[in-house]
Amino acid sequence: MASDLKFSVLESMPKVELHIHLEGAIPMDAMWALVQAAGGGPRTREELARRFEYGDFAQFLDTWMWKLRFHRTYHDYEFMAEAVARDLVIQNIVYVEMYVSPSDARANGLETGPLLAAVRRGLDKVEGVDVALVPDLVRNSGQRAAMRTLQEVIEVVEDAGIIGITIGGDEARYGAELFADHFARAGSAGLRLSAHAGEAAGPASVTAALDVLGVDRLGHGIRAVEDPGLVARLVVNRVPLEVCPTSNLRTGVATSWETHPVRTLIDVGAMVTINSDDPVMFDSSVARDLWNLHCEYGYGLDVLVGLMHNAIDASWADGAHKAALRERLQGWQESL
Ligand SMILES: [Zn+2]
Repeated sequence: MASDLKFSVLESMPKVELHIHLEGAIPMDAMWALVQAAGGGPRTREELARRFEYGDFAQFLDTWMWKLRFHRTYHDYEFMAEAVARDLVIQNIVYVEMYVSPSDARANGLETGPLLAAVRRGLDKVEGVDVALVPDLVRNSGQRAAMRTLQEVIEVVEDAGIIGITIGGDEARYGAELFADHFARAGSAGLRLSAHAGEAAGPASVTAALDVLGVDRLGHGIRAVEDPGLVARLVVNRVPLEVCPTSNLRTGVATSWETHPVRTLIDVGAMVTINSDDPVMFDSSVARDLWNLHCEYGYGLDVLVGLMHNAIDASWADGAHKAALRERLQGWQESL
């Protein structure tokens, strides 16, 4: 019964997350430690928290760039990764495909290979969550920088535990066609492909991610709802959508729960997965967004568990790993 569901049940669910950015997931205590070590930033935690309020998507990107001044060294990245992994364990998130944007750190003099190695060292210090890395080629860095990042990523795939790539940033100004070669090359190198599309731009951006970039999954993809033909294509082809409901409300991409596209997408049978995106910058989590779906739309546990099965199916883990994740989720459900 939907009405019997408690938030603590969703907290205890063994969860999979496919759309979370390392740099947006640094727990507040760790973020505050980085700010204090760097100096010249907010003087109080309250002031820091106020930086994470946005009027629109452009303001969010602005804060993202501002925040980079506090991730200055490889040690900072190792420290961040460890703190994020510990937080995932607390949330009962057991498998993650995590975005990280090495090219954003170039301005601080950090190179892709050593940065990804530092992130891996931090993640490996924590037991209880498996994290595969998915570097973000960053649309705004431009074609040349994105190709350089990709080449550097390909060199450390095995050592850093990299499973795929994505591309985020300003999809309206830096369209998919600029990055067709990058995605073709990543695909031939055995990397899986996702792209942020249909978040700040409309259905054409989603179609381009599918047709020009050949993605396996869509980051967000929610604005596909503006084109019923495209929604039908996503449903028929079981294209996974990495939906991040609270993120969309915080950046103004969606204006209310009432009109949030996630509801339509779930109701028409699209392959929706639920994710936090930048959990500390948006004050979001997978458990809380599952709870929001329950409270706002009345979805019961079966629907919410179904969304978690979607995340397992849409993940890029190998067959045995997926089977283990499914078994764990089923075991949990039977134990309730
Ligand atoms: Zn994202």
